[in-house]
Amino acid sequence: MQNIISGLNQAHENDSGEERKLIGDRGDYFLNRMQGETGVDISACYQCERCTNACPVSHFMDIKPHQAIRYVQLGWREDLIKSSTIWICLSCEMCTTYCPYEVEVAEIFNHLRNMAAHSSITPKEKSLAVFHQTFLEVLQKSGRVNEFRLMNTYYLKPDILHERIKNKTLKEDLLLGITLLRKGRLKLFTPKSKAIKEIKRVYSQTRGEIV
Ligand code: SF4
Ligand code: SF4
Repeated sequence: MQNIISGLNQAHENDSGEERKLIGDRGDYFLNRMQGETGVDISACYQCERCTNACPVSHFMDIKPHQAIRYVQLGWREDLIKSSTIWICLSCEMCTTYCPYEVEVAEIFNHLRNMAAHSSITPKEKSLAVFHQTFLEVLQKSGRVNEFRLMNTYYLKPDILHERIKNKTLKEDLLLGITLLRKGRLKLFTPKSKAIKEIKRVYSQTRGEIV
């Protein structure tokens, strides 16, 4: 109970210290939507904080895993989509392993990343968000992730290219790519997956299209 109250108090004020509604604008709508779309029983969470204690990268997160689950329960969608947390999560599932109710936090963060990618909100961790988007693009094309194509596509994204030029790391990245190609650690081509149709269907479904 103490943890629940402290989790609420930590999340009760926004960055500017203004008070805001305890429950999100649309009440249980967001919680129900997230439970329906992820299949995770988010209501089962009772704020024991085991997930946060088990998470190897929680100290880098602006909203800790147990707090993020509470945010979902309260309907605070925008705070989550704007957070660094959803991009920092490694999907290692240590949180779920230690959770008494096996709440799949990684699945929730994965879902929030996809929501963020389709929203107009600028992600806090821009390069991670672009990498996530690029990964999905490459996977959609052949049903497999070819590292050469992935890195090529990623580095040619305007924001990333600009950042690399600014940091003067473009030459370094190119040389590393050439070395890896020479040593056979990167393959130029990867055959399409036999499950490509199924993969494309899943992509279409997540965009809300009927196949
Ligand atoms: S370990 Fe499970 S029950 Fe405990 S706070 Fe995390 S998600 Fe909630
Ligand atoms: S899946 Fe994400 S939130 Fe869970 S322990 Fe791993 S990094 Fe932390």
